[in-house]
Amino acid sequence: METTVKTICPYCGVGCGLSVKVRDNRIVDVKGDKEHPANFGSLCTKGATVDQTIDTPNRLKFAQIRFNRSDPFEPVPLDGALEHLAEKYRSIFRDHGRDAVAFYVSGQLTTESQYVFNKLAKGAIGTNNIDANSRLCMSSAVSAYKLSLGADAPPTCYEDIELTECFLILGANMAECHPVLWQRIKRRANRKRVRIIVVDPRRTPTAENAHLHLAIRPGTDVALLNAMLHVMISQGWINPRFIRDHTEDWEKVRGMVEGWSPARAAKVCGVSEIDIHRAAFWFGQSADALSFWAMGANQSTQGVAKNLGIINLHLATGKIGRPGSGPFSLTGQPNAMGGREVGYMSGLLPGHRNVSDDAHRKEIAEIWGVPLPRIRPKPGLDAVRMFEALETGEVKALWVVGCNPLATMPNSNQIRRALEKVELLVVQDCYHPTETSRLAHVLLPAALNLEMEGTMTNSERRVSLLQPCVSPPGEARPDWEIGCRFAALMGYEEQFSFSSAANIFEEHKLCCSDVYALNMDGITYGRLKHHPIQWPCPTKSSPGIARRYRRKTFATPSGRARFHPVDDLPPADRITPDYPFALTTGRLAHQWHSRTKTGHVAKLGKLNPEPFVAAHPADAQRLGLRNGDAVRLISRRGVARTRLKIEESMREGSLFMPFHWGQSAGEDGCVNLVTHGEADPISRQPELKHNAVRLERDGGEAVKA
Ligand code: SF4
Repeated sequence: METTVKTICPYCGVGCGLSVKVRDNRIVDVKGDKEHPANFGSLCTKGATVDQTIDTPNRLKFAQIRFNRSDPFEPVPLDGALEHLAEKYRSIFRDHGRDAVAFYVSGQLTTESQYVFNKLAKGAIGTNNIDANSRLCMSSAVSAYKLSLGADAPPTCYEDIELTECFLILGANMAECHPVLWQRIKRRANRKRVRIIVVDPRRTPTAENAHLHLAIRPGTDVALLNAMLHVMISQGWINPRFIRDHTEDWEKVRGMVEGWSPARAAKVCGVSEIDIHRAAFWFGQSADALSFWAMGANQSTQGVAKNLGIINLHLATGKIGRPGSGPFSLTGQPNAMGGREVGYMSGLLPGHRNVSDDAHRKEIAEIWGVPLPRIRPKPGLDAVRMFEALETGEVKALWVVGCNPLATMPNSNQIRRALEKVELLVVQDCYHPTETSRLAHVLLPAALNLEMEGTMTNSERRVSLLQPCVSPPGEARPDWEIGCRFAALMGYEEQFSFSSAANIFEEHKLCCSDVYALNMDGITYGRLKHHPIQWPCPTKSSPGIARRYRRKTFATPSGRARFHPVDDLPPADRITPDYPFALTTGRLAHQWHSRTKTGHVAKLGKLNPEPFVAAHPADAQRLGLRNGDAVRLISRRGVARTRLKIEESMREGSLFMPFHWGQSAGEDGCVNLVTHGEADPISRQPELKHNAVRLERDGGEAVKA
């Protein structure tokens, strides 16, 4: 019998709905869900081929254990593996304390799985050493929203695309990384008067379609944003009434941007003064303006400042809290937003709370049914510090859920040393081998999103229900179920007696109840079976609130949005004659993260077949390099080898290399061998978008950085 199941694409944060035809426990067709408001039936290549990621040769179907890394893995029943782990964890707690363990989880898990692992770490074990790959993705946006608007997450919705007159897209290659949304923007831009401004050092496919492309020097976004505001003030394109009635600390920002004339910013950013004026004019004088940004802004030692610089533009012009206007950070992963709801990063608690807040800990301890002292007040280790602590031996056990940090974390030589040092490495994943799982002691088989029930929240705060299309193979189980079984073995049966994902969602909702900007009391699995719903959604009759702050009351104690003065600071990794290029890393249209899924889809492999580093023709000529040459990138951390791709779209002095291939194209093919782990001081998001390197022809001999 054939059935049609509605679920969600497991890749980017657009959160496209899928309509999946299933026959005899096999997927026979995948289409975009015409009724889902994120995509109305559209899909990109990744979403359309997602069925091919289920039955791959590297699918992990059973638990496996080994006692030494030199031994082969032995298959064991899942319960046996969990009993072994419970014993090991008890012994580590006894000998080294509870902060000797850490968890590294993913924005690709369902909200329910993220919730369970966060509760397991912070509420049951009593360590805040849990962090997520969202640290590399969205943590700068989280910090900036909280600082400026008083609560995390964007105030906007996708419908604003069809209403705005000006798109400011900064550090986001939407044409390749959020393609379905990009199609909506392009359709809107066919209208008269609608403008697209793209800020990106590369002439990406997004920039190709812009009315104005500001190809700034990597890392100089704050200078540009300050100069745009400078122009808007001097030209009277700001909204003094909005500033007076709904914001605070305006004078501090006004004072800061006074010093950022377009002439000064033009020199710093390497763009023309006239283009800065034009960008300010379009943003300031359009009836509405919508700003999108992603990793290009966030992955920086100035990530929070860049976010605040964008939000300052919206507050100064009053272009927020109304249709067609507002700051709109894009989530890179399908459920980074859900992870933010459950507070799965090391300093957070569910419902956008903080571990350092006494009242927040008390509220969550009551919901979790754990003694208050169990939740520690000190933030745990963020991702970069977590891997440093593994290398020093401070942390003895790491449990990785749905991530491949050896391929994706910066400075992978350090990550390898850390993973080789850790006494117990548990990898819970759908696939094996991956770069990380090869170093594991215990492998736990996880179900894929297409095999389970759960929820995910996309970039516009819309919660969608995943419904199982097929059964998981072997002993693979939903991540939350594995976490609950382990918790029960550790003695926390009562707190983890969830019988279904829906059960977990109801407890998660309790954590969000009474939180001004995040209430989801009105969302139930029953309602989600019919249609996805945006939060806030305070009652069961509410359709969900598409735009927040319509009444211009922000989530700060005073109800006013806060301006924050931000200044331009240089990136951490200095450009010097020895390391003269600024290397950025990023995604391609047809691959996903470290290709554990997309690497098995032949069609995607043909579209993005191999790794490369892109350079400007003038740079290649100066170095005597030709297209396709074997080259090496050398940084202060290490050496990576790949092929050269000469592209007119590159800025001179800049290089770009996708991070998808990890070590799959050769042990020294991982771009993260040369990236660094310096991070934003507030958000602790590493600066993957600016790495000082030199580029050389590769003769094959060893190179010392
Ligand atoms: Fe999936 Fe994103 Fe493509 Fe939509 S745009 S199909 S969510 S990868």
